[in-house]
Amino acid sequence: MTEHGSRQHFETLAIHAGQEPDAATGAVVPPIHQVSTYKQDGVGGLRGGYEYSRSANPTRTALEENLAALEGGRRGLAFASGLAAEDCLLRTLLKPGDHLVIPDDAYGGTFRLIAKVVERWGVAWSVANTSDPAAVREAVRPETKLIWVETPSNPLLGITDIALIADIARSAGARLAVDNTFASPYLQQPLALGADVVVHSTTKYMGGHSDVVGGALVTADEELGGELAFHQNAMGAIAGPFDSWLVLRGIKTLAVRMDRHSANAARIVEALAAHPKVTQVYYPGLASHPGHEVAAKQMRDFGGMVSFRVAGGEEEAVAVCDRTRVFTLGESLGGVESLIEHPGRMTHASVAGSALEVPADLVRLSVGIEAVDDLLADLRQALG
Ligand code: PLP
Repeated sequence: MTEHGSRQHFETLAIHAGQEPDAATGAVVPPIHQVSTYKQDGVGGLRGGYEYSRSANPTRTALEENLAALEGGRRGLAFASGLAAEDCLLRTLLKPGDHLVIPDDAYGGTFRLIAKVVERWGVAWSVANTSDPAAVREAVRPETKLIWVETPSNPLLGITDIALIADIARSAGARLAVDNTFASPYLQQPLALGADVVVHSTTKYMGGHSDVVGGALVTADEELGGELAFHQNAMGAIAGPFDSWLVLRGIKTLAVRMDRHSANAARIVEALAAHPKVTQVYYPGLASHPGHEVAAKQMRDFGGMVSFRVAGGEEEAVAVCDRTRVFTLGESLGGVESLIEHPGRMTHASVAGSALEVPADLVRLSVGIEAVDDLLADLRQALG
């Protein structure tokens, strides 16, 4: 809160929330508390509330408070990876006999976790096109406890109307989780639209520099936050102090990075849409994208992820990925450097043969913050 009691702006919270100058030294950046345990003044006499770093660590607390502030939540929790965060959420909310609805376009690892791991514990799931509220309504059963949404989705940049699906979840007595990794809280705030929990792979835009793997959950519901924190400690897949610090450092520049990612992506989309070798471009900023109006309503801008299909099929898509020089061929996304990949053979290989299978001629770009003219020239030479 500011001196006048109003909520601070996103850019200010990103730099300051959860982070006072260090009380002992005045250091303006929170120290990396690389420590496992804390001296007690007599049994149970905790000085700062900390007893063991799986349960809580001051550097992680700074990140968790920051995450809560950025998503407009009350409780933020930081994990060792995005999938560790997802695992904690799924095991907190679901028990044998329960059912969840998952999107027909989502990160392949999310699908693998649900279909290959969580299902073994007696949890049923069905796939729905979450861009279509009628399809979600139809997929809901009396045992449905969770609806999972990823918007924009990975890799087809599908858009789901968060407020509409939140209504469906509420009337079904289910919770709504939104994977906000592609947008980041700068571009989209699912809790304000009615979601119960936000999920992040902080590996991506939050960290922003391709130098850390991490995950997060944020909720505005104190009771749910307490249950998630219990499971985080009980299961133990927490973010370490140095990783927490790296994510905190990345977040400080999130707003300026997202503006530049979005501006660069918009220019690239324009060029791809006009290119004779490109048969389709997926980007919610395109007026022709079926989710454009919803995206414009619930997002500040359209982000840095772009997918497209190339004439010549799978072989040509793979060849384009091999020919770029500024775009680096690699998995992951959301860093300052531009990346290119072939989802069918790389990030989404685990969904082959399922309802989530992606087109074989699809190429995915994570558009970085380099000079856009260099990125455009690289794509032009790679497309030939
Ligand atoms: N959610 C999305 C949208 C992702 O793209 C990813 C990873 O690519 C994950 C979750 C999983 O995150 P992590 O790789 O940090 O475990």
